[in-house]
Amino acid sequence: MLYGALEAGGTKMICAVGNENGQILDQTTIPTTTPEETMPQIIEYFKTKIDENLPEEDRIVALGVACFGPVDVREGSKTYGNILNTPKIAWRNYPIVKTLKDALGDIPIGFDTDVNGSLLGEATWGTAKGLTDAVYITIGTGIGMGAISGGNPIHGQLHPEAGHIIMSKIPGDEYKGHCPTHGACFEGMASGPAIQERWGKPAQELREMPEVWELEAKYIAQALTAITLILSPQKIILGGGVMGQSQLFPLVRKYTLDYLNNYIDTKELRNVNSYITPAALNGNQGIMGAIKLAELATEE
Ligand SMILES: [Zn+2]
Repeated sequence: MLYGALEAGGTKMICAVGNENGQILDQTTIPTTTPEETMPQIIEYFKTKIDENLPEEDRIVALGVACFGPVDVREGSKTYGNILNTPKIAWRNYPIVKTLKDALGDIPIGFDTDVNGSLLGEATWGTAKGLTDAVYITIGTGIGMGAISGGNPIHGQLHPEAGHIIMSKIPGDEYKGHCPTHGACFEGMASGPAIQERWGKPAQELREMPEVWELEAKYIAQALTAITLILSPQKIILGGGVMGQSQLFPLVRKYTLDYLNNYIDTKELRNVNSYITPAALNGNQGIMGAIKLAELATEE
């Protein structure tokens, strides 16, 4: 069975065709500019994959969309499938699912946040395979978190926005925070732009300064401590550009355990190296998760 997959990101749109094993058989990347420019290219790609002149076994049977947010994932909502109040003005309130449905006809479309998509990829084929409760956090230009609980993605009133939980400032850190809404939230203190603004250089140029990563790890660990205490996940997967600084992992594990201070004694926390862990699908977790979203859409 073939599935269409769209990983809709703020800078690029990855369109792909994959199968039920998560194998990516075809892929193309389209820059994210405006809906007027970008969407026709996406639609054109998927139209060629549902073309009636193709042998039936070569056509996609469903499409999965893992999208940058915030997005409306509440089934039955009037604005289901819309991008909501994004800082990318051209995409604000854009009905991405409806646009694809109108253009592609009857094929089922699965839809979720980009981070829930990445987590679904990792929970199906990657490092969280077999787990029922896990979170995926991307730390890059922004910070986002996807979560599954009891095997299902958490949506609730909208979807988790753990990138905006409020941080306690680490003593000595005078930085006011980068988030226009909250100042010193998780994203405001620990995203890539926050690192760059605080230290005057992009993260890649700060690798040799241990104080940068000590501070960064403390903020990430604050968030991971809260998430551990609130969601009780079996695994926390960290991805995104900032986590490409692999020296962060041991520090984040150390400070998370320090902050928890043995309050919880579980096998997960005793194996902290596998509890707090990088993504395992080589950057393909998002698009593979979108393949899985498509497969799930056919089952509904
Ligand atoms: Zn914020």
